Amino acid sequence: MRLKCLGGFGEQGRSALLVEGKSCFLVDYGVKKTVGEGILGELPLKNFPELDFIVVTHAHQDHTAMLPLLVEKGINVPIYATPPTKEFTITYCESWHKNYEIHRLVPPYDKQSIYELEKLFVTKPYFQEFEAGKGTLITFFPSGHLVGSAIVYIKDEKTIAHFGDINFNDAINPKPYLDFDAEIGIINGSYGDKIMPKELLEKKFIENVTSGRFNVLIPSAALGRGQVVCLLLLENLSKIDKEIYISKSIIENTKRVLKYPHYIKPEAIGMLNKLVDSPYFKIIDESKLNDLIEKGAIFIAPDAMLSSGPALKIFNLLKDQPQNKIILSGFLAPGTLGRKLAEREVSINAVLSLSELKVHTDLTDNKFIINKTLSNAKLILIHHGEEPKSTNLANKLREKFNLDIRSPHFGDAIIF
Ligand SMILES: [Zn+2]
Ligand SMILES: [Zn+2]
Repeated sequence: MRLKCLGGFGEQGRSALLVEGKSCFLVDYGVKKTVGEGILGELPLKNFPELDFIVVTHAHQDHTAMLPLLVEKGINVPIYATPPTKEFTITYCESWHKNYEIHRLVPPYDKQSIYELEKLFVTKPYFQEFEAGKGTLITFFPSGHLVGSAIVYIKDEKTIAHFGDINFNDAINPKPYLDFDAEIGIINGSYGDKIMPKELLEKKFIENVTSGRFNVLIPSAALGRGQVVCLLLLENLSKIDKEIYISKSIIENTKRVLKYPHYIKPEAIGMLNKLVDSPYFKIIDESKLNDLIEKGAIFIAPDAMLSSGPALKIFNLLKDQPQNKIILSGFLAPGTLGRKLAEREVSINAVLSLSELKVHTDLTDNKFIINKTLSNAKLILIHHGEEPKSTNLANKLREKFNLDIRSPHFGDAIIF
């Protein structure tokens, strides 16, 4: 059996793993974000073996947004995913494509290829084992990171658990399911060897929002982080003395998430409905932005890395005034304005605050995963972590577990 790390190893972005066993298949095929463009896709295609199928962990662009390119290059195989992953993958590919147009760049694929991609999807619910190809059996388990996000459990020549992006602390998505054993584990290294105490991070985040003197901008993804931030503010309304404005896409996506009640926590359904109906969350009217800013408000809008979208527009209106605050709360890809701000390559007069919220597994969670599912594993690979975070995590885990834990890099192949 051979595992080829096509992307997302030693880096965060362009997640793609090629597995050659009984079947030959890809897990994910995403983009690496920089400002407005990715640097993805083309490389692995040069020597692409004949694929039997593709399987997708979840809809985020770093896992999906290059799939249309594969279709355009003639790959015509089933693509397995949960129903929400299918729906939101198409949305994400559309918005990725639009990004190129906004930045006046040539898109990597034709828009029509997104709709050709849509036809190839075969959806499977959580917990239902299915034969994906040539004797390879797959089951999706909840991974708690995004609506429909999955741990992909594979029975091929070996059993493989690809944990994708996984979170134990999500307000909306059900807790990851870990009642299985695997011989090979691919775990998430986003936070390296850091411990991310959820409650403390949320407390600091709220303090950060409420201490904003005038306007506060929280750039957030329209799906996932957008809802998480809104629910957090909803829980803390008594501490907030400003109007809250959110982008229309956050409310639209909340309604779309609510179409999948079986994929979200029962208690989250009420909270999301409350968000949709709440009079405290008003929709941003971009034509009246100047008026809103004059009064002072909290704005929650995409995109999270300030590459484009209403967040970038609002940022440009707020950045010169020291009484305004910008709060960045998640991963910021190299080359994006968000990252440049975080690394002080770009300076502004407004207050810049980095206040992370937890969306992935930290060191404690990864130890828990190994104890629960990988204590007899023959191989554990760290993916989805920039260096030196990935290597730090591998080193730290090796101190505790006498297992073959590695932090491979882009292009590495592991024969097993
Ligand atoms: Zn993700
Ligand atoms: Zn990801």
